[in-house]
Amino acid sequence: MQVQRVVLNSRPGKNGAPVDPYMRCRMNDDTGADYLTPWQLSECVDGGGVGVVESSRCADRAEGDVVTFFNWPWQTHAVMKGSVLQKVDPQLVDGHLSYFLGAVGITGLTALFGVREKGHVTKGAHQTMVVSGAAGACGSIAGQIGRLDGCVRVVGICGTDEKCRALVEDLGFTAAVNYRQEDVPARLRECCPDGIDVYFDNVGGAISDTVIAQLNNGGHVILCGQISQYNKDVPYPPPLSEEIHETLQSKNITRERFMVLNYMNKADAALCELSQWVKSGKSSLVSSHVIVICFILQVLETVVNGIENMGDAFCSMMKGGNIGKQIIKISE
Ligand code: NDP
Repeated sequence: MQVQRVVLNSRPGKNGAPVDPYMRCRMNDDTGADYLTPWQLSECVDGGGVGVVESSRCADRAEGDVVTFFNWPWQTHAVMKGSVLQKVDPQLVDGHLSYFLGAVGITGLTALFGVREKGHVTKGAHQTMVVSGAAGACGSIAGQIGRLDGCVRVVGICGTDEKCRALVEDLGFTAAVNYRQEDVPARLRECCPDGIDVYFDNVGGAISDTVIAQLNNGGHVILCGQISQYNKDVPYPPPLSEEIHETLQSKNITRERFMVLNYMNKADAALCELSQWVKSGKSSLVSSHVIVICFILQVLETVVNGIENMGDAFCSMMKGGNIGKQIIKISE
């Protein structure tokens, strides 16, 4: 059997281009996060993966089992310890296995726990939520959860008109702003006439400064990520300007660091909820002739075929080439 794998050839340095948000720091000698280890040069790299057991010597894992792992080696076939692999039920995702990496996996959990633990979203409170990186994996789910949990208005910020269209027409966002083409402060004022109550922040930098300036008193920032700063040699979270710091203080805005791995004790129940959202309400009979397909939680993915395209796909994702979760498909 021939096995293809992806290795880290050289480190890009702290100020350099590539890779997936959380994986980018694993390319440095020091990841800057105690829960992440650096990739080793010339060694096979790893990340979230899902696959099927082809043969097993482990009593708990049988041929045909579908399993996931956070540190899946990026190679076409791998020998792994049965004890580290999490067995999953394909029915939870209607057989769409890649959802275990996205909406019904760590991405969905990030969105759900971010909104629930740090967003203070309350039904009936007429809140407006803004999401940056809104057409990406976490952002696209987070905005939909904000709506499901009771926000009356959810506005996404993203980098292309095509993404804006998908947010509004496919995912039910109230409005979307293209930060590369539009005047972000003006468009936010227009789309959020009652100000902003909750900000799901995936990007940091100038976009976040603009959103924070328009947050209402007692607003909440969900500090999920700061992707605009990841290829720079700055600590995480990157320091705020004096002005933004003052805004947070004077308006009593919360902005606590959020880390999905801190809430894994609640993961099982949350994954069930995400699975039901993705599956249920999928089809409803409106009349004897018309079946309306209406997903409660829509899942967007950008799928690239072939392990050999992994590096290119990651670099593209860092530049906004993806809509929804970036998936690399190794085999059927
Ligand atoms: P995405 O699928 O959102 O992909 C990244 C997106 O970021 C791109 O598609 C691009 O979209 C946008 N982007 C890239 N550069 C910039 C920039 N300079 N300014 C604005 N937008 C930019 O990735 P994920 O969903 O995996 O990750 C989203 C965020 O969530 C990241 O910051 C990540 O680190 C964080 N995260 C945090 C976790 C936690 O526990 N706190 C767990 C998992 C992820 P566009 O076209 O709109 O520019």
